[in-house]
Amino acid sequence: MIKSINVKTRSRTEFVNITPEVQAIVTESGINSGVCHIYVPHTTAGVTINEGADPSVVTDIVSSLNRLIPHKANYLHMEGNSDAHIKTSLVGSSESVIIDKGRLLLGTWQAIFFCEFDGARNRQVNVKVMGE
Ligand code: ZN
Repeated sequence: MIKSINVKTRSRTEFVNITPEVQAIVTESGINSGVCHIYVPHTTAGVTINEGADPSVVTDIVSSLNRLIPHKANYLHMEGNSDAHIKTSLVGSSESVIIDKGRLLLGTWQAIFFCEFDGARNRQVNVKVMGE
């Protein structure tokens, strides 16, 4: 069984905390012990796990990615969004989180972030929960 989360982004580059939605899918699955796979089926958006407590961390990650990989440069890709493709490859398209006692086994400060790099758009995150 695969579940999807719909994410509506509002900016070109934006991190959206999807931890509550992912946990809701784990809870609904009834699985107590296992693994939760989070997969983003887009080429200009990804997923990462990092600090969810202080929003400045996400702001710093986004501003650093934008500084390292500028929107406009001598890219070959005609669509004009090469920076978004490169950022997506850097953060990756999937994460796996252990499930213990029906809960995502994240660290105290960790959260799961959908990473938009070519918004604003309607996006999808696929979640597969496996275990018993
Ligand atoms: Zn493109």
